[in-house]
Order: sequence, then C-alpha cells, then structure tokens
Amino acid sequence: MGIADQLRELKQEIPDSVTLVAVSKTKPVAVLQEAYDAGQRVFGENKVQEMVDKYEALPKDISWHMIGHLQTNKVKYIAPFVDLIHSVDSYKLLQEINKQGKKNNRVIPCLLQFHIASEETKFGLSIEEATEILEDKAFVELDNIEIVGVMGMASFTDDEEIVRREFQNLHSYFLLIKSHFFKLNPGFKHISMGMSGDYALAIEEGSTMVRVGSKIFGSR
Ligand SMILES: *Cc1c(COP(=O)(O)O)cnc(C)c1O
Repeated sequence: MGIADQLRELKQEIPDSVTLVAVSKTKPVAVLQEAYDAGQRVFGENKVQEMVDKYEALPKDISWHMIGHLQTNKVKYIAPFVDLIHSVDSYKLLQEINKQGKKNNRVIPCLLQFHIASEETKFGLSIEEATEILEDKAFVELDNIEIVGVMGMASFTDDEEIVRREFQNLHSYFLLIKSHFFKLNPGFKHISMGMSGDYALAIEEGSTMVRVGSKIFGSR
C-alpha cells in the first residue's frame, strides 16, 4: 500500500478530534512531499538538524513537531519555526526554550514528557518532577512558552494490559496537572500518546495526538 492509501486508512480509524502526527524521521524529503501531496500537514521529527533541513526544503504550511530528546544547545535552531515540542523533560530545557522563544518574538507550545514505561531507556519526568517545575515561582515568568499538555511512550511489549495501564497513568497525570495548575486554561488540552503499534489503544484511553511513523512510511 502506498503512503496516500495508508494515510486515508488511518484517517478513517482516527477521530477528527485526534491529531495525526506523521513521524517522518530518517525518511527523505521526497517521501514527506508524497505525504504532503496526500494532504498531510503535521510531521514529527526526532533530530534537530534533520528537521531544519526538511523545514527548509518543504512547503512552509507544514506544522513541525519535535518528538525526540532535545539538547538545550540545539533549541535555537528550531525555535524560529517549531510548532510543538513534545519532549520537554527538564526545567533547564524549558527555560532555554523560553529564552529562544523570546529571541524569536514568539510563544513556543510544549508538552511535558512523562516516563510511563517500565524501560529505563526512555526519557521523561515523574509526576513529582513535573509538579516541582510547575510550582516553581519563576515558572509563571516564562512568557515565551506555553504548556499545552503531556506526552509519553508506553513500554515496547505485546502485553496490551501493560500498555493500557501506562496510557491510563499518563491520562491521570494529565487530569491531575490540569486540575492543579491549568484549571482555567483551555490551552492545556493535549495527551500525546500512541504510535504505530498502539495508537488504537491510546485513542481508547484518551489520546488527542498520535505519533505514527512506520505504519505510514514503512519500516526504518
Ligand atoms: C519513532 C517515534 C514514533 C513513531 O514510531 P512508529 O512505531 O514508527 O510509529 C513515535 N514517537 C516517538 C517519540 C518516536 O521516536
């Protein structure tokens, strides 16, 4: 099946209220252009240089999402154009995104990434660490970032019950943070969870944004 067919099939499965982020990491520009021509406008990348190169080569109405671990010294390269950073996993990174947002005279939307999997290898905050950031007195002065939700990656396992429980944990963190820190802020609304293998489960558990790569573009 071609890219356009895969996208069409996914669109039928995913409710209109859920954003499909096409994860195009490692794929060449021509392949992204094919997805663009089929109507896709939101792309996810996990490496800064690759995202900058693709941004420069492709149409300017694409919404670029950074989904991979981000080093503070590289924020400046994507700050002028990135539409959403899914992978905020430290206060230091958030402060740097704010600084670069200010330099570019814009507010950069961010998600707090949580560590929900059993694997040690995955990045992300604990609920205690996230609370500490949001309670910090200096947090309210970060005028050039906006926290619009949470993100997480489930364990790499065939056991659906484990994956479902991890998604439920992320959903509960979302609700907790919303009620404590964003009660009157409708901008805090996203739960980014679900990939090629588990997006259907993620949507059942309340995902508003799925990050799908190999199901659209083939294996990497
Ligand atoms: C690569 C990646 C995805 C997409 O994974 P697929 O299994 O190819 O759909 C989603 N989220 C993150 C953070 C990734 O790095």
